Amino acid sequence: MIHADRILMGPGPCNPYPEVIEAFTRPILGHLDPDFIQLLDELNDRLRKVWRTNNQLTFPISATGSAGMEASFVNFVNPGDTVVIGVNGVFGGRMCDVAARAGASVVVVEEAWGKAIDPQRLLDAHPNPKIIAVVHAETSTGVRNDIELLGKNKGESLLLVDCVTSLGGIPMLLDEWNVDIAYSGTQKCLGVPPGLSPISVSDRALEFLVAKPQSWYLDLNMIRNYVTGDGARAYHHTAPISMLYGLHAGLGVVLEEGLENAWARHQACGDELHKRLPELGFDLWAQPGHRLPDLTTVTLPEGLDDAKARATLLNEYGIEVGGGLGPVAGKVWRIGCMGHTARMRNVRMLLGALGEIVS
Ligand code: PLP
Repeated sequence: MIHADRILMGPGPCNPYPEVIEAFTRPILGHLDPDFIQLLDELNDRLRKVWRTNNQLTFPISATGSAGMEASFVNFVNPGDTVVIGVNGVFGGRMCDVAARAGASVVVVEEAWGKAIDPQRLLDAHPNPKIIAVVHAETSTGVRNDIELLGKNKGESLLLVDCVTSLGGIPMLLDEWNVDIAYSGTQKCLGVPPGLSPISVSDRALEFLVAKPQSWYLDLNMIRNYVTGDGARAYHHTAPISMLYGLHAGLGVVLEEGLENAWARHQACGDELHKRLPELGFDLWAQPGHRLPDLTTVTLPEGLDDAKARATLLNEYGIEVGGGLGPVAGKVWRIGCMGHTARMRNVRMLLGALGEIVS
């Protein structure tokens, strides 16, 4: 069965840009073919632009966002290092698990789900942590955590930020905000299918690179000789050529539109959802002032059956939205409006469908 017309408004993958789908049909090149290496270099340049960084070590890891998370910890944590992590949803929790497995002594700064983490609490949690880590856009709750103040006041610590649901959709200024290590995913606001995890590492962070990380595949000491740099490229793994064509094309779409315009498009869709959903009985759940435009969370109108309503949306209207996770499963919906999906026509389709379902 081919679902060519699904509107993907869940927290997972968005609809990819048509240019991205087209890129997947390009002929395969060898992973060391000079033309492919040139495309990879161009892709990395485009990533730097979208991330607003000059970091030389900026490239996509050949695996999903969680691999970017894992690479960010295993390459910079030595056993016993103190890592402060903000947790106000699933992905902050995942960071703790990954950091602990790398041997970190984890200091958790918890906040209620649906609320943003006060950056000062992260800064005060330990006098000199090796790393302060936080999720910029918590996909499990629709909350944006503040990054800028952390970058300003982190001292000698490295600032590590999860940008999976923020890159390309909301402002994320890596260099201006003094972020040292960042990772993302392709399937959200970059409008590309899941499968790659862009990562960017500052020169300062590279001074702390672990000599022999516990992961072979994610060892940046080795990968960097393949994916970046001016010298001859050495084989590390067989790059997923078609995925890289797709990301190259997706970044091209974002940059051609203009990064600010892409942010504004996501914001406009979010604003419309935030304004209109309460009129239909769906109350906004995330903390005011910290609501993501690209991932809206709402509580359900009295009497609306979560599973039944989402099944109706999917089967009768072709629209996917996501349910709540953990403590808010069955009570909250997560409505993504990311990448190519972030169009006013999709917002109107969803609002129209919901209007019919709740009437
Ligand atoms: N971090 C955040 C904020 C996410 O939303 C996700 C996935 O949705 C991940 C990490 C993990 O990414 P992936 O599922 O691509 O491995």
